[in-house]
Amino acid sequence: MSVAASAAGAAYIVAALLFILSLAGLSKHTTSRRGVTFGIAGMAIALVATVWLVASGSWGEPSAALGLTLLVVAVIVGGAIGLWRARVVEMTGMPELIALLHSFVGLAAVLVGWNGALYDNGLTGALRDIHHGEVFIGVFIGGVTFTGSIVAFLKLSGRMASKPLMLPGKNALNLGALIAFVALTVWYIAAPSLGLLIAVTALAFALGWHLVASIGGGDMPVVVSMLNSYSGWAAAAAGFLLNNDLLIVTGALVGSSGAYLSYIMCQAMNRSFLSVIAGGFGIEAPRADAEEQGVHREIDAAGVAELLRTARSVVITPGYGMAVAQAQYPVADLTQRLRERGVEVRFGIHPVAGRLPGHMNVLLAEARVPYDIVLELDEINDDFASTDVVLVIGANDTVNPAAATDPTSPIAGMPVLHVWDAADVVVFKRSMASGYAGVANPLFWRENTQMLFGDAKQRVEDILRAL
Ligand code: NDP
Repeated sequence: MSVAASAAGAAYIVAALLFILSLAGLSKHTTSRRGVTFGIAGMAIALVATVWLVASGSWGEPSAALGLTLLVVAVIVGGAIGLWRARVVEMTGMPELIALLHSFVGLAAVLVGWNGALYDNGLTGALRDIHHGEVFIGVFIGGVTFTGSIVAFLKLSGRMASKPLMLPGKNALNLGALIAFVALTVWYIAAPSLGLLIAVTALAFALGWHLVASIGGGDMPVVVSMLNSYSGWAAAAAGFLLNNDLLIVTGALVGSSGAYLSYIMCQAMNRSFLSVIAGGFGIEAPRADAEEQGVHREIDAAGVAELLRTARSVVITPGYGMAVAQAQYPVADLTQRLRERGVEVRFGIHPVAGRLPGHMNVLLAEARVPYDIVLELDEINDDFASTDVVLVIGANDTVNPAAATDPTSPIAGMPVLHVWDAADVVVFKRSMASGYAGVANPLFWRENTQMLFGDAKQRVEDILRAL
């Protein structure tokens, strides 16, 4: 082994340790900055070691000069696009950007797999068989991640309906695809051919598409973290093919932490982990959407100001609509104004409110709402019964009583904020449309609910003026 290769191997071990320390740091608020710093340091070491490896020609063909040129061009083009996208993305667009990035990891794993199949470095015997097995596993995981992430991107960006695709016999289709994958792998190891490689790639693409298309809008947060996990396993598979220890370790870290996060999210959402990773196994098709369930009452900003004037306790439950309207700043002003008048104001944050974990917490922190009045679902849910007014600002699925009362609802069993227990509920939204999961919300027709229609930011500003 050349000096460059052994030095790079040592650098990779240091980088891997830094990535582990980074994950440990990110698990707590107080140590998260340190965690990010460890991650950046690990990535910088890994990058320098890799560039050095290429420059020293340790990777054989292509020549060192050509290898370095290709690497620099790829890093400049990829880095420029990445920087540009990350700078312009709105926070509400983060999950779709993340889904798109996962799709690149999947595609990269497919390409590395194909590359491994076309150049098997003259391996023979058992080593050659293992190599062929790795090729198939890499292409399969990468393919599922690629199309699955594309569908997630399309759903999250609203380019594809969020309701689950319900093909007849969908579970049998998924199971059949897995059996076909195992059979194709055995066949490929026995008699490798380009046709089998094309077949497994097409199969993985179809399965990835179907798995994510079959999952309903309410389960999308889990899908995003699940695809994160898949992208880690795809990277690890590519690491085996490229003989790159760091890629194997990093891929395994991303894969296992993503799987664990998906598991925790499923528990928090009262969802079956297996059902979600098996493409919505056991989930029924949602019934017809948003039919009127009675007569709703409307209120104007002056009316809400009047309610707030006499209230002693107020809870604000923000959702995706607050993020879209960028209403967090007037909401923070309203909070401050009410607190100055001696009203107790608190926030109730649902774990999947908005479009990414922690979305509402970040927005409220940005608008300088004090941390100690921002409470989690479990901390606030029992207090709604003693609350005078709840302001539901751009939230819908996360305050839907059907989850708690209708066992046939597609979001049945998902914990929700029990806002309807309060004396008065005001829902800020622009229409009677359903939320991301596409499920009608009976809260809107409750006797103690009033609808304040319009853009959330403008309506909160109107209330501030009226106060
Ligand atoms: P929802 O997406 O259920 O509903 C948001 C509501 O905001 C809509 O009903 C919409 O109604 C209203 N709205 C939109 N724009 C405005 C505006 N400018 N002013 C006022 N209202 C507006 O929000 P929730 O936060 O309650 O729920 C999040 C949903 O997203 C859940 O289903 C969750 O599973 C899913 N999800 C969450 C992710 C996460 O990690 N947090 C990731 C992916 C999905 P109207 O059009 O009538 O105004």
